[in-house]
Amino acid sequence: MADLLVAHSLHLRMDPRAAAEQQPHPPIGVLVTAAELQRAGHDVAVYDGTFGSVDDFQAALAGHRPRRVAVLADPHTISQKMCLSVWRDAALAMVAMARKAGADVIVAGPDVSDHPGVYAGDRVTVVVGEHDDAVLAWAGGATATGVRKATPRSTLAGLARPAWERVDMPRYAETWRRTHGTWEMALATSRGCPYRCNWCAKPTWGRRYTVRPADDVWAEIAELRARYRPDRLWFTDDIFAIQRPWLARYLELAAADPIPFRCQSRADLLVDPAVARDLARAGAREVWLGAESGSDSVLRAMDKDGTVEEIRAATRNLRAVGVRIGFFLQLGYPGERYADVLSTVRMVRSLAPDAIGVSVSYPLPGTVFWDRAMAGHSADPASERWSGSMENRVMFQSPYPQPFYDAAREVLRAEHALASVVRTPTVRGLLRAPWHAGRWPIERARVWALGRVL
Ligand code: SF4
Repeated sequence: MADLLVAHSLHLRMDPRAAAEQQPHPPIGVLVTAAELQRAGHDVAVYDGTFGSVDDFQAALAGHRPRRVAVLADPHTISQKMCLSVWRDAALAMVAMARKAGADVIVAGPDVSDHPGVYAGDRVTVVVGEHDDAVLAWAGGATATGVRKATPRSTLAGLARPAWERVDMPRYAETWRRTHGTWEMALATSRGCPYRCNWCAKPTWGRRYTVRPADDVWAEIAELRARYRPDRLWFTDDIFAIQRPWLARYLELAAADPIPFRCQSRADLLVDPAVARDLARAGAREVWLGAESGSDSVLRAMDKDGTVEEIRAATRNLRAVGVRIGFFLQLGYPGERYADVLSTVRMVRSLAPDAIGVSVSYPLPGTVFWDRAMAGHSADPASERWSGSMENRVMFQSPYPQPFYDAAREVLRAEHALASVVRTPTVRGLLRAPWHAGRWPIERARVWALGRVL
């Protein structure tokens, strides 16, 4: 029994990619809310559906019989930021179950912020934006239902640490170790991003950036290491360590006993070799860059405020200090042409990143990209979305047909696999190389046949 049940809508098995990758992280934003509620004296239970199905939520309702239920999507999790329809379906089903059980409900998350009307209903409070304080006010008796615009936090100092003890951490550890041979925990040091890439949706934090004090982050890491013994961390920040003084302090704290980590950064922050070196000394083992494209004209169209040359420099600098590099790449951004796609292929061939993630450009409401991509279309922003993160459907009028982008993705994957095996031969890479080598000319021919018309 509990007065208040805090739940999140991400169930790994609902998204084929998440189910296949098996890289679960506890929902940080949801656990922070649970911890804030606990600190305020509420009797709180947590429903963590990561390894279950939505039906398990019904059992949690029956077990706890809460008067109030918070159904949240974690704004620190990439796939929930993509506002996939599987998460919306899960959240709506959970809201309906909670209402049927007689509970008052509050609902929040990236998709909720974009489309509050979809979630509105009797006895439902819908939060647009950063949800912690709104949930606290609601739990404290604020009875107003309907759509509520949250007031953003000006500082993260004093924010409760996630209630890590409320999830089945051994199961997370076991899943990681069994599938990846290592145990990776996620941690957030900041919220938001101040950059302006015009396809990047910012429904929760807007174009704002707030960062936790490095000392607080390091104290939490020490606690997590003592309690759960992770092998490494994944910093969920949109961009890790944007501020040089912050990185300097983190490095000071971590220098004696750094914990390995993976993170996301920007190429322009890494053109200075000293930053790459400090990241490595702080524990960075893998850095993902939003490289997006090997064409400067596409990067300009995205307002990326970065260049291909910076991607090259960042790659050189990270590699020089032994840090693995991942590239997020996009295909199909408005204005991209056949020659630009080939530039991206050449960039992957020449830089041979250690990992790539390729998707077609995915417009989300509230962005310049959405406005451009959907201009002249009658698309309903509330219904246009991918069902799962593997969908890769081009949702707008593009110059080339869908099979062109499918083939271009395969070419990029083959280029990456072959370039990687040349740079760092591994048994697995060598075994897979013939398959990629056979695939490459077929897909490259499809790209040529489908793309040369323009
Ligand atoms: S740097 Fe990354 S998180 Fe920031 S606006 Fe650009 S794409 Fe978004």
